[in-house]
Amino acid sequence: PTVFDVQRIRADFPLLTRSVHGKPLVYLDNANTSQKPESVIEAVNAHYREHNANVARAVHQLGEEATAAYEGARDKLARFINAPSRNELILTSGTTQSVNLVAYSYALPRLQPGDSILTTVMEHHANIVPWQLVAARSGATVKAAPIDERGELIVEKYIEMLTPDVKLACVTHVSNVLGTVNPVREIARECKKRGIALLVDGSQAVPHRPVDVQALGCDFYAITGHKMLGPTGTGALWARREHLEAMPPFFGGGEMIREVRFSGTTFAAPPHKFEAGTPNIAGFVGLAAAIDYYESVGFAAIHAWEQNLLAYVTERLREIPGLRIFGEAAEKEPVISFLLEGAQASDMATLLDLQGVAVRSGHHCAHPLMQFYGVPATLRASLAFYNTREEIDAFIVALLKVRKLLM
Ligand code: PMP
Repeated sequence: PTVFDVQRIRADFPLLTRSVHGKPLVYLDNANTSQKPESVIEAVNAHYREHNANVARAVHQLGEEATAAYEGARDKLARFINAPSRNELILTSGTTQSVNLVAYSYALPRLQPGDSILTTVMEHHANIVPWQLVAARSGATVKAAPIDERGELIVEKYIEMLTPDVKLACVTHVSNVLGTVNPVREIARECKKRGIALLVDGSQAVPHRPVDVQALGCDFYAITGHKMLGPTGTGALWARREHLEAMPPFFGGGEMIREVRFSGTTFAAPPHKFEAGTPNIAGFVGLAAAIDYYESVGFAAIHAWEQNLLAYVTERLREIPGLRIFGEAAEKEPVISFLLEGAQASDMATLLDLQGVAVRSGHHCAHPLMQFYGVPATLRASLAFYNTREEIDAFIVALLKVRKLLM
């Protein structure tokens, strides 16, 4: 087998060399946001130093360069998730904006009293609250499919809940708390049979696995750039052309129009119809560099390394008495939630931080999931392909120290 040269990878991430509270940083909060390679940082920097101008408006050289870079990022993102057309890819500020766009432009105009939107108990609030907001405006309701104790979606239940009142079905591809990978293809097949559109939250999938929206068979796929090595404030929504043509714009303003008259305005074709105002141009230049980086490493190598790390951290955590792991699905991405009996998650995160270990504590924007497990919060270690087995050892040593302090 080829050896994964993690030290060579780490050398590309300047932040990973810093220390925290006098200790070498062990960054295990990657599901929250990833660190950025030099090439991404440099691409953003070079954009502002050499090419900065607004997009689409200017015919001068810089305007053309900025437009080419921004539209080039769209091409790259479309290829990255195998969208059938670049015109089906709307650039947004992240998953939250992508989901809200679908909520207000696709769902709201279709919802009647008595209709519903189906989501699941394991969703991030970004795939719950927008549906509640449009449900409240239309008299519709939000239903949530259940999960089991292992943190797997009960797929038969989800399918059973795809009744005629459901106007849109939603599911996360990968849980940000449990790491569970959901069977999106199967769900998409069942939605299609019933003529129900399916939205997939891909935030936690794209950093770890190759995504092919055509093979998945969904209708909408939302992603965020900052969890996949890119700058904050970048993301995308892929949607089938027929949906985009039927959807009214959500934001109005410059860039999204064909002709504006007080007697009536006509709109640009998708994707520009949904991109009002000046976008995060430099951010998308950085995101394009992030995709290049993923492609240079390759998802096969990334997957093998991350699964190796996940198995190792799971095994080491299981050795600790009184430690409860949340989420033991058969197929997982490298995210693990846990609690130590008798200790507060936030106290533990603070004490871990003092030893240089960055994990997240809290509800992870997933209140219904916390309610399901009957806990207010968990600790979450989330890995990236630049993490090492030595960092996991350091994390476990720190955790055992914390345990001693708190017990
Ligand atoms: N969905 C999931 C599963 C997430 O993990 C996150 C980020 N934690 C989001 C949605 C929201 O992403 P953003 O804040 O970048 O819009």
